[in-house]
Amino acid sequence: MTEYKVDVTDLQKSYGSNHVLKGIDFKVANNEVVVLIGPSGSGKSTLLRCLNKLEEPTSGSIVIDGNDIADKKTNIDKARENIGMVFQHFNLFNNLTVGENIMLAPVELGKASKEEARAKAEELLETVGLSDKFDAKPSSLSGGQKQRVAIARALAMNPDVMLFDEPTSALDPEMVGDVLEVMKDLAKNGMTMIVVTHEMGFAKEVADRVVFMADGYVVEEGRPEDVFEAPKNERTKAFLDKVI
Ligand code: ADP
Ligand code: MG
Repeated sequence: MTEYKVDVTDLQKSYGSNHVLKGIDFKVANNEVVVLIGPSGSGKSTLLRCLNKLEEPTSGSIVIDGNDIADKKTNIDKARENIGMVFQHFNLFNNLTVGENIMLAPVELGKASKEEARAKAEELLETVGLSDKFDAKPSSLSGGQKQRVAIARALAMNPDVMLFDEPTSALDPEMVGDVLEVMKDLAKNGMTMIVVTHEMGFAKEVADRVVFMADGYVVEEGRPEDVFEAPKNERTKAFLDKVI
């Protein structure tokens, strides 16, 4: 049996009477890069947020690295340590320096000594092209730089899955490329990634698979060249006509 990194079965999520996810089946293999697309309000963020329990699923199962995170017995803090998340708005701590932002979780959670966390933070800042920003305050950075710090911060916990929720949507166009480059490098180095984005160029170049969601379901999925060039579903076609 194939062991998936992420294995979601019949996931349902309602907010009150709003039935948002109506039975999502979604699997991601180790080292796979999946780009999740779909109309606004189709539940993409809700799905990502269920994957690290920022939202409580209404029903269904979510198995990550063999742990059922919907099971009350699973230690969710432990599970979450292995899942990095990057949001549209970077959520950096503005009262801390860039370096301190990156060191915070590993030190607070006892994953690393201060010295180890500092060395790792310096290494990660170099990876995202910001080695001179260790002592800078987030407020002095551009949006693109902040987002690269947010990626470094997520990586500091050595996650084995990274979730990205429209990481470039809030950025000025000239900042988008640098952030996408960092994400491409991560993908090249084998990170398992689930990326919600409207950057179809990124999807074509980097994704192993594109998943199209609408009306609470996965409507269509496949290799980017297949989904983009020859969508089978009318909803997919209509969506792609608007965004490409
Ligand atoms: P997407 O990311 O695809 O745009 P979302 O997952 O953000 O979609 O939203 C899906 C639906 O769930 C929308 O109708 C939205 O209003 C609703 N929703 C999302 N988050 C919440 C929340 N925290 N409380 C209530 N409703 C929510
Ligand atoms: Mg969203």
